[in-house]
Amino acid sequence: MKKTTKPTYIIFTSIQRIKNCSLYYSYKMNKNGVTGSIKIIYQQLLFIISIPLLLSCGYSDDFDNEEIDRNFSAPDKIIKVNIIYVESLETLGKSSYTLDEVEFINYLNEGYFHRFGIGLELSESKSLINEELYDLRDNTGSEPSTFLMQSRKSYDKSKVNIYIVKRSNIFGIAGIGRDQRVLITDENLFTSTAPHEIGHALGLFHSHEPENIMNTVGKNLRHHFNENQEMKIKKRIDEINLKN
Ligand SMILES: [Zn+2]
Repeated sequence: MKKTTKPTYIIFTSIQRIKNCSLYYSYKMNKNGVTGSIKIIYQQLLFIISIPLLLSCGYSDDFDNEEIDRNFSAPDKIIKVNIIYVESLETLGKSSYTLDEVEFINYLNEGYFHRFGIGLELSESKSLINEELYDLRDNTGSEPSTFLMQSRKSYDKSKVNIYIVKRSNIFGIAGIGRDQRVLITDENLFTSTAPHEIGHALGLFHSHEPENIMNTVGKNLRHHFNENQEMKIKKRIDEINLKN
């Protein structure tokens, strides 16, 4: 959105400052005579010169904002992403997952991340055979700890790692996110669960702000990070990228 400047306000405050300055130096002049009056003229001239400078600074701000608008699709922070399909020995090789990975990354970027100057970039995709992770039904209530335990050898610390599991093999959980690791059920890939869990994986906690991606409710309304969250994510991305 284009920022509006208020040149009238700047002129008004500058005039006010000149007036205040005049009053102050009138008082000084009575005490200091001619030297004082030269100082008054000098100070007033400085303020008059500063009016167009303040105005041009305002216009410059507008121009910068337009530049940012145009650069939304060219993020300044890039984080690489690995996609890991969780399989069991029985399902491996039977193409049980049918995800269009490019479409998925585009969905995340265009829908949630690019507007904050953050870009996800697909690095590699692979399969992981892990019976316990594939069938989380045996771990009801301890899914997060099971996930962190079972993924510790397969995740890449220099990336965000998205593990995908079958919805039918997990109860009550749409996703888990922590420590650069995300687990998402296949039915929730194209919902706000995906950026929510990625947010956790990049160090964010829950938020109660309406429409915030990190809110636990309003799944269909969640679409933005606040400034503090954006800053945290970018800082975390910098730290992760140092490991590359
Ligand atoms: Zn959460």
